[in-house]
Parts: sequence; C-alpha cells; structure tokens
Amino acid sequence: MTPQTILKSKFGYDTFRAGQEDIINTILERQNVLAIMPTGGGKSICYQVPALLEDGITLVISPLISLMKDQVDALNENDIPATFINSTLDYPEIATRLAQVERQEVKLLYVSPERLDSGYFERLAQLPVSLVAIDEAHCISQWGHDFRPSYLRLTEIIKQLPSHPTIVALTATATPKVAADIMQRLDLQREVKTGFARENLSFKVVKDQDSDRFLLDYLKMNTEQSGIIYASTRKEVERLTLMLDKQGVPVTMYHGGLSKQERQMNQDDFLFDRLPVMVATNAFGMGIDKSNVRFVIHDQIPGSLEAYYQEAGRAGRDGLPSEAILLFKLNDVQIQRFFIDQSEMDDATKAREYDKLQLMAQYANTPQCLQQYILNYFGEQAPACGQCSNCLDERESQDITVAAQQVLSCVKRMGERFGKTLIAQVLTGSRVERVKQFQFDRLSTYGLMKNDSQKKVSELIDFLTASNYLVADGGQYPVLKVSAAGIDVLRGQQQVFRKAAVQAKQSLPVND
Ligand code: ADP
Repeated sequence: MTPQTILKSKFGYDTFRAGQEDIINTILERQNVLAIMPTGGGKSICYQVPALLEDGITLVISPLISLMKDQVDALNENDIPATFINSTLDYPEIATRLAQVERQEVKLLYVSPERLDSGYFERLAQLPVSLVAIDEAHCISQWGHDFRPSYLRLTEIIKQLPSHPTIVALTATATPKVAADIMQRLDLQREVKTGFARENLSFKVVKDQDSDRFLLDYLKMNTEQSGIIYASTRKEVERLTLMLDKQGVPVTMYHGGLSKQERQMNQDDFLFDRLPVMVATNAFGMGIDKSNVRFVIHDQIPGSLEAYYQEAGRAGRDGLPSEAILLFKLNDVQIQRFFIDQSEMDDATKAREYDKLQLMAQYANTPQCLQQYILNYFGEQAPACGQCSNCLDERESQDITVAAQQVLSCVKRMGERFGKTLIAQVLTGSRVERVKQFQFDRLSTYGLMKNDSQKKVSELIDFLTASNYLVADGGQYPVLKVSAAGIDVLRGQQQVFRKAAVQAKQSLPVND
C-alpha cells in the first residue's frame, strides 16, 4: 500500500492537495514535522493516511471535543477503526475504549490534551504508539494567540513515551516566531508550509460606518446565506443578536456565558442551517467544520491578525467565493487594549500583545492589498490579490506630502514622547491643559491644522502610522515616533499619497 492508494481506497480522493504528500512522506521517513496549512487545506489527511500505513497506533491530540466525535464518526464510516477519549464520556465507557485500544482494535485514538494526564498516561505509555499528531499546535507557543498550559505539559508527556513515536504538529496560524517556538519545543526537524493565501476569500475593511446599519443592509442583500458575525464582548453579542432577530434575520448566538445546552443547541441550529447566521464571541468556531459559510464579518476588531485570519478563514471552506469583512471603529481598538491591560499576563507578554494589536489596527488603515498585508505578516511574499477592498479601490490618489510633513514635524518637536491624541490636539491648536502644561502652544507646529477637526487629524495620524511613516511604540497608550521613511518625507526626499476620502460608488463602502 502506498499513500496514494490509501488516499483513493480509504478516503475516495484522487490526488493529494498541496503539501499533503510531502508531509506524509516526511512522517513515513520518521522525521518529526511541523505542518502549516490554511484552514480547509486538508490537515487531517496528513496524519490519517500514515496512521493506516504504520504498524502501531496514532495518537491524535486535539483540543476540540466537538470535532473529535465528528472526525471519528467520519473515519468509522470509511471503515477506519478509530475512537476518542474525552470528558464527555463516563469512566466505564473510557475503560471500554482503552481496553479496545490495548487490544489494538483501533488505528487512531483521539484524546484531548487534558486527558493525557497521569491517570491515563500510564496505560497510554504501554501502547505501541507510532505517530503522535498534535492538532492546533500553535496552542503550544506562548507567542501564539491561543496559548494553553495543557499543551506545554503535553510536550513533556510525548517525550516520555517509550515507543518514541514520530511527531507531526499541525496548525493553520503560525507566524515565523511561533513556528520556530513549536519546532524547538517538540524537537521537530522539518517544516512544511503551503501557501497561506485563500484565493476564494475577498477581504474588505469598512471604516467608521454605522455598523448596525451596515450589517442590516448586508444581511438583507445576502439572505439565505450562512455567515458568522464576531463581536468582542458577550454583551455586544447579545445586543446584536436581539437587534438582528427583531429585524427578522434568522440569527442565533454563541458565547461563553451561555449554558452548555444552549451553546450546543445554538451551534447545531447554525450547523444545520436552521438559523444560518451566527453572532458570537471568539469562543465560537475553533473546530467548526461548516463548509458553506459565505461571510465572516467582524463587527469589532480582534486582538491580532492570527486571530483575525483564523476566524475570517472559517468562510469558504468549500472553496466557493466568500467574504471576510472587518468593520473598523477606532473605539473597538480600545476594547482590545482594555482586555490586554486587565489580563494577568506579565509585562513582557502584554507588550507583545500590544504590538500584535497595533499590527491588527494597521490592517484597517493600510493602503496595501489586504491579503498581501496578512500574508506578509505570516512571513510570506505574495502578489496583490486583485479582489480585496483596497485592490478594488479606484479612487484617485492625492499628494498629501505637505500635511504629512506637518504631522511628522510636530511629532519631532514634541520630542517623540507622546501619543496620537495629544499630537492631534497640538496640531489643531487645542487649549486643553496638557498642551499648556508642556508648553506645546509655543511650538511652531501648534495650530497648523486648526481648520481641521481633531478626528480628521487623528485619522491622518493613523494613516501615517499604518503606512509606516510613524511607528507606535508599545504600551497601552503607544508613543509615536518618526520612522526612517518619515525622515525622508521631512527632508522632501519622499512624497506621500493617499486615496481621496470620497463616498464610495458601490453599495459596499470601501476602505480609505
Ligand atoms: P483543515 O483541518 O486543514 O482545516 P480538513 O482536514 O478538515 O482541513 O480538510 C478540509 C476538507 O478538505 C475536508 O472536507 C476533507 O475531506 C477535504 N480534503 C482533504 N484532503 C483532500 C484531498 N486530497 N482531495 C480532496 N479533498 C480533500
């Protein structure tokens, strides 16, 4: 039997997708490998095929209890002996399944990381485990956006397995830093990464609009379609659900504050298209394998691009054209800042989270192709996608070099020690106490933009930050500094262009 024949005979597929064969062959050569593939890329096949070619058992570690059952059911339907052990089973059932595994009646055993604790470990250690597959492997890394302590203990447990199994770690979201961390922690020798681009997704940023209005209009134009709307807080999820429900949208909701039964019921309503629109916090979605999700709208900005790409990536798993829309409001960035500030992370971790949020916020302001911006973040080069709201933005570019020089010069004169608000106040000639306190009303740049509103100047500062003429330096209230490119602008060696902020022609408003 070869991987190819297993693919055909057991799974009914004719050809491997990008990366699959390479990963499978690496496993069969007994090298430990990190597989980075986009959501829907076909990660499961990468360990399911070798599981059937190896003599021993394949241990699949997955944090997603709901997905475990689905996967095991799907394998059993294909006559592949597989089972799972997790907290949904009572002890006699677990004992029955363990005995079954010990008799080597199954090829794949799915366990949650929490179940790998010492109670079961002794029995698992006796098994001839030939392969360990770690799904959602980014949870191992503290640099990742979804770090789980149970995953850290996991690495120790796997290393102690006497059968010295091969390890394959799989994830859809890993920056180069996270990938390096996973490789080091698990002693992985190789990394196989397939292109991250999701060609069937068109990304859009909608800025400073009335989000409720936008959602209602959008849902009216896209009735009968399934989609997810993400919000940052339970309260906002409830408010949106109520609002949409009143307007007749077939909507359900999901957040950590609902009872287990409610969550299960709502999730099923969504999965089976009884209520095709789901409003949820980020508690929803990991492991949800719904192929016909046509749109993912972020009503509020998430905390990082990893989180954003993963959540947005739940659209269009079936490969059909789908949309990923971010409704950007500056205030929502403050909510994420608040989450970081209130968390119990140490200062270094907080600083990293602030940086990630900063890059997420820049996504909303970048003039660059949105797909390209995301891929660059994950360390990948890519051409412009041609279908995101920036690529489709046909508005004329305006030369704003003089205004940019005014802002940059003001930042310099203020000593590069202050944040956006105070800079905008100085430029618009505000009389607030802080301006006087630092004697910024004596600067030559004071009031240079007095004909503009503070909001407009703030947006210009955001634009200059997003375009990297200014750099935001950490902390909850980042300090703005002039970058090397910004210095070139000040010296008149570089011009700055910005798309004119006019009303969009299409019904869908576009980013500026
Ligand atoms: P991931 O875990 O990477 O998000 P899955 O393993 O769930 O993705 O696979 C996504 C879908 O693609 C599944 O429906 C799976 O059956 C299908 N699939 C995987 N590999 C292939 C292949 N080689 N040919 C056709 N379909 C495939």
